[in-house]
Amino acid sequence: MQLNIKDRFNKELPADPILENTRRQVEKACFSYVTPKQTAKPELLHVSPEMLINLGLTQADAKSEDFLNVFTGNSVLPNTKPYAMCYGGHQFGNWAGQLGDGRAINLTEVEHNNKHWAIQLKGAGETPYSRTADGLAVLRSSVREYLCSEAMYHLGVPTTRALSLSLSGDNVLRDMLYDGNAAYEKGAIVCRVAPSFLRFGSYQLLAARQDKETLKTLVDYTIKHHFSHLGTPSKDTYLQFFETVVNDTLKMIVDWQRVGFVHGVMNTDNLSILGQTIDYGPYGWLEGYDNNWTPNTTDRQHKRYRFGSQLDVGLWNLLQLANALLLLIEEAEGLEIILNSYREKAATQYLEMMRNKLGLFNAEENDAQLVSNLEEALQLTETDMTIFFRNLSRFSAKKPSEGLEVTTDAFYVLDEVTDVIEKQWNTWFKSYAERLQNETLSSEDRQAKMNSVNPKYVLRNYMSQLSIDDANKGDYKLIDDLFNLLKKPYDEQPENEKWFAKRPDWARNKVGCSMLSCSS
Ligand code: AMP
Ligand code: MG
Repeated sequence: MQLNIKDRFNKELPADPILENTRRQVEKACFSYVTPKQTAKPELLHVSPEMLINLGLTQADAKSEDFLNVFTGNSVLPNTKPYAMCYGGHQFGNWAGQLGDGRAINLTEVEHNNKHWAIQLKGAGETPYSRTADGLAVLRSSVREYLCSEAMYHLGVPTTRALSLSLSGDNVLRDMLYDGNAAYEKGAIVCRVAPSFLRFGSYQLLAARQDKETLKTLVDYTIKHHFSHLGTPSKDTYLQFFETVVNDTLKMIVDWQRVGFVHGVMNTDNLSILGQTIDYGPYGWLEGYDNNWTPNTTDRQHKRYRFGSQLDVGLWNLLQLANALLLLIEEAEGLEIILNSYREKAATQYLEMMRNKLGLFNAEENDAQLVSNLEEALQLTETDMTIFFRNLSRFSAKKPSEGLEVTTDAFYVLDEVTDVIEKQWNTWFKSYAERLQNETLSSEDRQAKMNSVNPKYVLRNYMSQLSIDDANKGDYKLIDDLFNLLKKPYDEQPENEKWFAKRPDWARNKVGCSMLSCSS
């Protein structure tokens, strides 16, 4: 197995001088060296063929003993020094101080085809940042991260990637619902990959400690390697850097809204500086369209991270990042101007995205009203988001009265679509039909364009749960099936039509399907 090792994070940034793997506050450093834990009986369950290629590896490599050992942490690649990153963050609106990679260990960085990748194991044992926890991950959460991050990539949503999913052979104790019923589960390790795993919290922690020197080193490093088009770091470049992060983060969240993804735990330690979806924990996919929905049971009361709030939370998180950069820039005005433009940009981009979902390409002023009327209608009775938008492409402007028929499969309780609700829908379809009259594209072209932004297949919550239930029994076929299905989420795939269906009733209130905790 030959990887083109090009380490820079642990070569160019200040290291924690202590080498012991003990819990501690780490100051004036960006990471701590740590060796992954030896696993009892590692077993490779799945490998992403696309990521193998991206890293310059082959299928033969993936079958080697070396691959298994390296990507489960049992052996360390020659000339590399694994490390855990130091960062802080706001959790649910409160400053939490130092957090850090408590269950993630970076192995190395690799360059291939002019692309640079950091390779990280999630669930490979304790680090100085593990606090009271064990540094391990269980199979259910690892399957969820592995499948979803690759699926997001194929949906065209910026995301970290995954190379492999393995069992560790160790058992891990978890109190899944935080109700005092702890039980042993199978331990697992995901090897995840991204150009960088730096988060908002990486910068925040240094600023909170007034460590301007290390903050400058880290920001300059980030610009040099990840925003190099901005040029030599200066106060001006710092502002442009912030503006780019704002734009990238916004784009990512608008994409989440497009496909119905709810991150579930948008703490500032879980927001990538590169605007990539990171930390697939208690995330979920909208089934019934509902702005108030969150899959995260920990957030059930306040619903801070519900679907309809994600764009607002993005701004709140960016404000925290701006506060950190202020230590370096020393003047609030430039940062404020950028932050103040967020809401308008968000509204414009959201509307543009919704226009695309609706097949409206000649922008009109009343489109915002049409969109908000639709959002209201979608929440009158439980209506499947994915099915609704996918089937809407078959709607004919010439037959507005057939709107409900075309989208009928999206309604969970058809009997509820009567009287007032039926009337409201028919009114909406009528105005949509009128609006479509002003479009110039043929209906075939419109359908094709709509289908390229409205996925047919997403990783519905019950689908991952089915694959997890099988995997816990030692059957990994469904993981592979779903992995392949989700490589082409916008294609028809008639052989996979069974996954283009509403959530089955048994999954409505089942743990793992609609309720998830952070205990992974
Ligand atoms: P999260 O919100 O899941 O990203 O986790 C928040 C913090 O808790 C991060 O610093 C994680 O590294 C840490 N953490 C979560 N689970 C574990 C675990 N099993 N062992 C050690 N640290 C953990
Ligand atoms: Mg995290």
